[in-house]
Amino acid sequence: MSAYTPGEQPQGGGWVKLNTNENPYPPSLRALEAIRVALLNDGAALRLYPSPDSAPLREAAARFHDFKAERIVAGNGSDDILNLLIRAYAGPGRPIGMLDPSYSLYPVLAAAQGAPVVKVPVTPALSFDVAAVAGCGAAVFFLTNPNAPLGVAFPVAQVEALARAFPGLLVVDEAYAAFAEGDCVELAKRLPNVVVTRTLSKGHALAGLRAGYALCPSGVAEVLHRVRDSYNVDRLAQVAAAAALDDGEWLRVTSGQVRATRDRLTRELIGLGWSVIPSSGNFLLAAPASLRRPTSPAAAEQAFEFLRARKILVRRFPHHPLTEKSLRISVGTEAEAEVFLAAAKAWTEG
Ligand code: PMP
Repeated sequence: MSAYTPGEQPQGGGWVKLNTNENPYPPSLRALEAIRVALLNDGAALRLYPSPDSAPLREAAARFHDFKAERIVAGNGSDDILNLLIRAYAGPGRPIGMLDPSYSLYPVLAAAQGAPVVKVPVTPALSFDVAAVAGCGAAVFFLTNPNAPLGVAFPVAQVEALARAFPGLLVVDEAYAAFAEGDCVELAKRLPNVVVTRTLSKGHALAGLRAGYALCPSGVAEVLHRVRDSYNVDRLAQVAAAAALDDGEWLRVTSGQVRATRDRLTRELIGLGWSVIPSSGNFLLAAPASLRRPTSPAAAEQAFEFLRARKILVRRFPHHPLTEKSLRISVGTEAEAEVFLAAAKAWTEG
């Protein structure tokens, strides 16, 4: 098997880092305060193991979503949760399914469990065919919604139609839900085969902390608890994530700002003549174009290198026809957007 290829984390300063969909704003001060409190008395609490089932984090997630805490499982990032789902529900003869393109970690996790992978193509209209997914033969299907790297969000009604037609477990990976209009939490409340996974890494600006969770139908949470590490989320992550979830005002303001910058980047890049997919995430998939260079994989590669030479880092997905002509650009601060747009303009006019 081969390992997942994470986005580059450049060393040294001076980079405009728009390549791994991190949040450009610092996290809620309440999260930092929770860590400070947990470290009082010279950090004496760190001698002790944390809550084995991440009670503080699960209770905060329960308040946040109005969901039953006993049906929530916390993880060391949502990647941990995705791994647990595959460990519990997939394996040899029990394939996982995913849309192509979507998150490239799923096949890596499946390979480690000896589970085959069924890829269902995203349609040319950037949607999915309910019957094709429902009949794909997977034991567990991962629907990335909003999709990454395309950025499109699938309507809840379409996801519900899929859940009703699909005989296996449908996992809706909502890593980017904080930047979208709606979510599928309601489906995890009502339907017996829908799990929604969430992360604190994107909307809550805590990628360095590693915290995520799954909202499960009854029965599924118990299964995931059986296969997880007994202390899979550390003490500081549990309290900081809980405090971040409780700070609704911070989320409202920062996610609104990210959306505003995203929509401005979309408008301005379209104005330059680039092809941009309207995004529901904190990133854009945009195909660079100029009068001399229509969109192509070579133009995307050239624009990528042009930006890199100016210490602006974005990401390429050269191995799929829907992404090979594009750059994936994480939405940064307004100041970062200025720097990026000036460089994009220089490339387009150069
Ligand atoms: N799902 C998707 C679609 C993602 O893009 C990511 C982040 N790369 C994750 C899950 C995992 O996020 P984390 O492990 O940081 O919670």
